[in-house]
Amino acid sequence: MTDYQNYIDGRFVAADHAQWIEVENPATHEVLARVPDSDTASVDAAVAAARRAQPAWEKLPAIQRAGLLRQISAKVREQRTRLAAIIVAEQGKTQGLAQVEVDFTADYIDYMAEWARRLEGEVLSSDRAGESIFLLRKPLGVVAGILPWNFPFFLIARKLAPALITGNTIVIKPSEETPINAYEFARLVAETELPAGVFNLVGGRGATTGSALSTHRDIDLVTFTGSVATGTRIMQGAAANLTRVNLELGGKAPAIVLADADLDLAAKAIYDSRVINTGQVCNCAERVYVDKKVEGALVERLAKLMKATRYGDPGQTPDLEMGPLINRAARDKLVGVVERAIAAGAQLVTGGKVADIEQGWHYEPTLLAGCRSGSEIMTKETFGPVLPVQAVDGLDEAIELANATDYGLTSSIYTRDLASAFRAVNALKFGETYINRENFEAMQGFHAGRKKSGIGGADGKHGLYEFTETHVVYLNHG
Ligand code: NAD
Repeated sequence: MTDYQNYIDGRFVAADHAQWIEVENPATHEVLARVPDSDTASVDAAVAAARRAQPAWEKLPAIQRAGLLRQISAKVREQRTRLAAIIVAEQGKTQGLAQVEVDFTADYIDYMAEWARRLEGEVLSSDRAGESIFLLRKPLGVVAGILPWNFPFFLIARKLAPALITGNTIVIKPSEETPINAYEFARLVAETELPAGVFNLVGGRGATTGSALSTHRDIDLVTFTGSVATGTRIMQGAAANLTRVNLELGGKAPAIVLADADLDLAAKAIYDSRVINTGQVCNCAERVYVDKKVEGALVERLAKLMKATRYGDPGQTPDLEMGPLINRAARDKLVGVVERAIAAGAQLVTGGKVADIEQGWHYEPTLLAGCRSGSEIMTKETFGPVLPVQAVDGLDEAIELANATDYGLTSSIYTRDLASAFRAVNALKFGETYINRENFEAMQGFHAGRKKSGIGGADGKHGLYEFTETHVVYLNHG
């Protein structure tokens, strides 16, 4: 079994007195490897290395920084199948989706590298004669990236690539559930010419290592992806030093299906948006509001798809739609959520129990009809393959219920009427709306939650500029 070591200042370092975290395969319970549960001294060393490396990294022309990022993406592509197999083993992702994650990661790094020649400031006209005003975009300095377990490999790139291309250095803490892929990423980085200290990796638990990193006085931005509860804690901790935060948090994405929708398309897209990664994606379709005129027809189609889902150990079977949940707590949570939904009046259409598979944290793909406004199942993030459906009396009621939540990340609508679609777009209080398609964002878009789903966003030009600050220069040139 491998014991991984933190990657600090361009070297793998044995942590003194390291406590270890065992990483388990959620489908087999096999212990795959151990990673350090890093102490404050390791976090301090990683942040200090990033700080030392930052001025020279910022001075390097952006096009050279891009070249070094492309060395990393090339290494990822060389190892693409091995990396996907690691994600399958430690996260329980299906083989197909794990491969998509790795390939998307390499493309994402290249996409961010492309910005090297496109980063721009502004020149403004002054109120004074003989004066120009420049807005320069400068790196923030040292970034802390704290990652969840659900797209663990891609999230490294989503933090690292925009941070590095804009001249920041970074310290990453992966989730304690899925750190192996991050340590393997560090091994690839170590084979490139990336200067020491530009990228650092420390493993550990949230309450200790994560907290030490996000409350560190010498961090300029904490970019965090994870739950609302942890995001709140991180913001509280960062407040002590007035450190900036970028928070990508949970969601409770509504899918609205109008009476004129293509129901086959709607059912398939909602299904795909629910079972992807066993329902463990922030933008998964978490609740359906369907016009009562087509409720029966939609539920019938969804039930057929849910019942046909192939699931099991993704390490053993290549063409599954679902693997296990990440851990016992995630599976047990679903047991309670579904029991309470039924007690609150929902009808169980299919699924509804722990799957009959000897090993692994599997739960049956589950469809609940007749769900009620305000119930737990319609308001709290489920993060599993459980889809609740509620009938509504047309678009206005659907929009009102869709907005009646603390979350505001992703939403979707299915209709053949463009006017209805845009009425919804104008009224929905969400950062993203998908019209007649599944929920899956593009890297050139902007993935950002409103309300409790987060602060700031990621991807595209607007995500890139979150890693910069504006410096204004007034030049009196006479
Ligand atoms: P989590 O909040 O439990 O953990 C995320 C990370 O935070 C882990 O690395 C953990 O160690 C760390 N952490 C925990 N406590 C901490 C603390 N006190 N200080 C600093 N760090 C701490 O989330 P998770 O279970 O890994 O991920 C699932 C959640 O992430 C879901 O709610 C999902 O919706 C959300 N998510 C959001 C997006 C998005 O882009 N909006 C993407 C993926 C996942």
